[in-house]
Amino acid sequence: MIFIRLRGNGVSPGIGMGEICLSDPVLFSTRKETIPASSVEAELRRLKKAVERTKNELLTLKQDIKSNMGEEHGFIFDAHLLILEDRSLFAGIEKSVREEKARVEWAITQANRKYQDLFDAIADEYFRQRKSDISDVLARIVANLRPKQKRSAKPEETKKQVLVAHDLLPSEAAMRLSRRNVLAVAIDMGGPTSHTAILARSLNIPAVVGLHNVTQQVKNGDYIIVDGTDGEVIINPPLAVRKEFQGKKEKYDKYFRDLKKTAKLGSVTLDGAKFVPLANIELPEEVAMAFSFGAEGIGLFRSEFIYLQRASLPTEDDHFAAYSRIAKAAYPAPVYIRTIDIGGEKSLPQLNIEKEPNPALGLRAIRFSLWNRELFKVQLRAILRASVLKNVRILIPMVTELEEVGEVKLLFEEVKKELEKERVKFDRQIPLGVMIEVPAAAAITDILVKEVDFISIGTNDLIQYYLAVDRSNEFVSYLYKPLHPSVLRLIRFIIQTALREKKDVAVCGEMAANPLSALILLAFGLRKFSMNPIFIPRIKKTFRSLELGTVEKAVDEAMCLRTAQDIEEFIIERILVKHPKAFLLGQIM
Ligand code: PEP
Ligand code: MG
Repeated sequence: MIFIRLRGNGVSPGIGMGEICLSDPVLFSTRKETIPASSVEAELRRLKKAVERTKNELLTLKQDIKSNMGEEHGFIFDAHLLILEDRSLFAGIEKSVREEKARVEWAITQANRKYQDLFDAIADEYFRQRKSDISDVLARIVANLRPKQKRSAKPEETKKQVLVAHDLLPSEAAMRLSRRNVLAVAIDMGGPTSHTAILARSLNIPAVVGLHNVTQQVKNGDYIIVDGTDGEVIINPPLAVRKEFQGKKEKYDKYFRDLKKTAKLGSVTLDGAKFVPLANIELPEEVAMAFSFGAEGIGLFRSEFIYLQRASLPTEDDHFAAYSRIAKAAYPAPVYIRTIDIGGEKSLPQLNIEKEPNPALGLRAIRFSLWNRELFKVQLRAILRASVLKNVRILIPMVTELEEVGEVKLLFEEVKKELEKERVKFDRQIPLGVMIEVPAAAAITDILVKEVDFISIGTNDLIQYYLAVDRSNEFVSYLYKPLHPSVLRLIRFIIQTALREKKDVAVCGEMAANPLSALILLAFGLRKFSMNPIFIPRIKKTFRSLELGTVEKAVDEAMCLRTAQDIEEFIIERILVKHPKAFLLGQIM
């Protein structure tokens, strides 16, 4: 047996080890097959039957997953059921059968390729990942064209194993991970925002994705260690390595149990200052997981995902279904729904957006929405309809100038009037806020904040635009410094300006999730921290082990220093070294 170490992308922390169970890949037909013209109608009937079977199968699966894993995880199958109803997708398949006389298996393969190519052209990794939903549904239909080989809806295996796969389709991921017998997951493909990654995180199953060819290097029954914290996979390790990782696993599991306990404790510093941890989510099924990690609300719902679950444009009801699901699941806690942040890099196949020379500075987010008002109104109507419980807030991304807020308010009023006329209920007091992500908006925080109910600082983009450093370009990543004195001065100004105006202010960028930068934000007066839910316990533990007074004093002095490095070293020295509890936590994850 060969001992192999592989590096991938750790997307769900922790260590899992055990025997490998290789997942069978889902196969599309690779053979171009045609049919005689006289068989076209019969072929289309085959398709119709397979679609019906698929629908029943999905409904059964949805029920199973709901009872095994909870209501929210059934949602993925709702998305798949919606794809089944997508007219443009099936019109394309039907056209191939009618006009090219393609056998339906081949017509589906072509449709799949077309959508995969369209989605592959999207730069944003999160968006790209959604292509697997379409593949998933199409593969299921192909399987159902052959009734005898229908994929089993009810899995039976009970042995605890490590799941290794080339790629996992979303429904397969939900089905396999819900069995509670998966110790860890290792996958050739995938990224941090794939369904598998999201599910693994929410179920606390260690996972490494992006391993390229792990499936070619193992066979069923091999032994494997998956280190989801460091993104490492070890195949057939010698005993000494197994022991080393067993120790690491025990340490991590203890750390995680402690963190989970923290999730239930109060969000308050040692000297009694309250703070509010909120969650950033991308899918409605993440709500329950977010609360289990200690979230006290959904601080950012990136609504773009709604466009990714179908091949055509989402309807008002599609939007509404997602928003009301989240609002209900979070109730009475608040939910900040951000209107779509697409355009630019996050272009979508359905929208035929032209490529721009400089997408980050182009027609993105609110700029895109104001250019596509009918689309925007659909979203606004759906958010308003979902606000009946009075816990929904609406957040506008990438605002640059006051005029944009004026335009949004006008449209918002128009939509409210329409709904009133139609006697549709909604929250008339629904709070409206803006993201501060563009430096120009930051500099006029005092002007903007008077016009809205709250602001949320998107530090990911704010830093990118303020420092002129592309947030996803590794060549300049050394310059991407959240602790750059200019960034900190700007953020302090934004927070303190909002507080002076007695308006709510949150940070929903990565700075809120890092113990060191979060401490600085706390000292600036910030109390709402919105982040990927898995980081909430860590931030809570850090804040709970410190006195606000101590932090404020240290940060005051740090703000007189001249470089990011000086500031970082000073805070570590003054706060974290003296309070190892807070420090250790920052390091382990
Ligand atoms: C941000 O820019 O900080 C933010 C939260 O938005 P996104 O990461 O979705 O651009
Ligand atoms: Mg942003």
